[in-house]
Amino acid sequence: METQIQEKINFSGVIRSVQPRSNVWRYKLYNRTHSTTGYNVFLIGTANGTECEFAVAISEKQQEKMRFHIGDEISGTAWTKKYAKWEYADYYRAGSLKKILATKDLGEETASPWKDEVPPLSVYNWRGCRMLDTRSYKGKCFTCKWACMANVTIEYNWGVSQKFRFESFCYGPKNCKLYKMGKPRAVPYKDCGSDYDEGWMDEMCTERRGDDE
Ligand code: SF4
Repeated sequence: METQIQEKINFSGVIRSVQPRSNVWRYKLYNRTHSTTGYNVFLIGTANGTECEFAVAISEKQQEKMRFHIGDEISGTAWTKKYAKWEYADYYRAGSLKKILATKDLGEETASPWKDEVPPLSVYNWRGCRMLDTRSYKGKCFTCKWACMANVTIEYNWGVSQKFRFESFCYGPKNCKLYKMGKPRAVPYKDCGSDYDEGWMDEMCTERRGDDE
């Protein structure tokens, strides 16, 4: 994969969302595995001297310690991405994290989108997830702790080449009124065209839980 020169930056801002930093590996139609490596914290503020909206990847330990919520004002350092095509967050390897001002609104636990504190990664891994319509992700689901935009690797030509993209998923209750799967997703393989993930893998990935869990 193409690498980029990395640079350390300072950032500060107000949190808009905290989501799991998820990775998905796809190989043809029948292989879709999910893993989580920390959280993506979405902010509006200043990064590298520029006012903007941006996302910083943090570790599970950092989230355990800082307990970031939507509305908190925070600051820290981070690094620009090594693999821009693979990493959805704008910055990672965060450090010197500080909570400048803690929000008083800790979020509702009773209605979607669920804006209360994110759970440990083991909870996401146990729950499994379903494909989430990209427009829903960018719209009403964006602030939900169950939403994520995953870093996806597709084995395009086994052992020779891979493709990379980002896909939105939902770890939330299956009966959430805001849920929409969106269009089936193409999974290409060299010289075979594309198969389409039409959602039946979602059932397998979430088979441990009932409709309202
Ligand atoms: S569809 Fe999923 S991500 Fe969206 S609000 Fe419902 S539980 Fe949250």
